[in-house]
Amino acid sequence: MYDANRMASQALVLSPQHRKIVGAVAGAGALSRADVARALGLSRSRLSPEIASLLESGVLTTETFGPSTGGRPGALLSVGGPEVAVLAGVDVDADRVSVALTTLANRPVADHQLEMPAATDPKGTLDAAAELLERSLAPGHGPLVGIGVSIAADIDPATTRPMTPQTMPAWSGLPVAEFFADRFDARTFIDNDVNVLALAEAAAPGADARLGRSFLMLKLSSGLGCGIVVEGAVFRGSDGFAGDIGHICVDPDDDTRCACGNRGCLDAIAGEPAIVRDAQAIVDAGDSPLLAELLASEGRLSLELIGRASELGDPAIGSLLRETGNRIGYVLAGVVSFFNPSSVVVSSALRGGEDILLSAIRELVYQRAVPTSTRHLQVVGSGAGPHAGAEGAAVLAGRGFLGTAGTVAQARPSARHAVAAVTSRR
Ligand SMILES: [Zn+2]
Repeated sequence: MYDANRMASQALVLSPQHRKIVGAVAGAGALSRADVARALGLSRSRLSPEIASLLESGVLTTETFGPSTGGRPGALLSVGGPEVAVLAGVDVDADRVSVALTTLANRPVADHQLEMPAATDPKGTLDAAAELLERSLAPGHGPLVGIGVSIAADIDPATTRPMTPQTMPAWSGLPVAEFFADRFDARTFIDNDVNVLALAEAAAPGADARLGRSFLMLKLSSGLGCGIVVEGAVFRGSDGFAGDIGHICVDPDDDTRCACGNRGCLDAIAGEPAIVRDAQAIVDAGDSPLLAELLASEGRLSLELIGRASELGDPAIGSLLRETGNRIGYVLAGVVSFFNPSSVVVSSALRGGEDILLSAIRELVYQRAVPTSTRHLQVVGSGAGPHAGAEGAAVLAGRGFLGTAGTVAQARPSARHAVAAVTSRR
């Protein structure tokens, strides 16, 4: 059982200046003293005592690298390991829950995952997540200083609670962040799954060079969501709901009714239920013996199965995905012209079948967006692994702890479960 009293007794307290220093070093992986001074706009002499105290407490360590220009080895600063402090990320998906434990610099310490009917069993899922997190914590670890939660739902910034999630209605209004804050006596930050995925991409090693500093993260699942990264930080809009690309109209003459009540929304035309419905029609018409065979052995039509049929070269499913990609590309073209991102990163459960979707998206975006905004644009698949949701949530926890998460819903531990959506600014 997690002993919050023991952990609280060894809480890690950092001054605002120390948080900035640790944030700069953690974000880069390792930095020289001169780089830290430059990043924070401070003189090295002002920085020196601050760094000395962080080294003394073990929050920072030095790594020695090859000889620098003077012939002496250059010492780089990095953030200490799990003995200093740990962060946790929890990812709640419709059919599984995942937990990641990382260092303050978001180096993985432990990962656990459990398949379960999370969509319909919130209480069982929260208890399972808490157990996985307890199992991850070891006696040698420093205090748990922050928890991040990723969930497939919009978050009400005023209450920190999920709002009417389409795929997981049972979670609507539940005190998810409060549950973790209270159980682990740690500040808990919560955001929707697409923003967390965007954060995971932005924080991955080499992301700046690979994706640029301002990019879009598009997730295709039951609906379409878009995470917006501006200069390395997630942009959430004035009320916390930016990126709702799924309800942009693709075709005003399309009769398909969307969950929002309108017709012709991207969600209704290119979300998973629409793709599954169209693939089922193809199977029923006898136009895809391959998918029919896969369906007979798996029993349920899903994006993953459709992706597999496409990867195996099924022409009818290939053209369905091409059409879907064109529809998504049609909307994205407008968004790209407006936002001028360096990259659009696409994530879906299609896996090997994603190539056709990507090239169809590219085709429409390059055709319809203004040439000035596509000159350096790349549309790429996500390199995120199976733990990206939980690891991204741990990044959210780290940024929340260090005060660089921007405006994000947060629950603080307290005897009376006091909760506030706070604004923590850099
Ligand atoms: Zn809609």
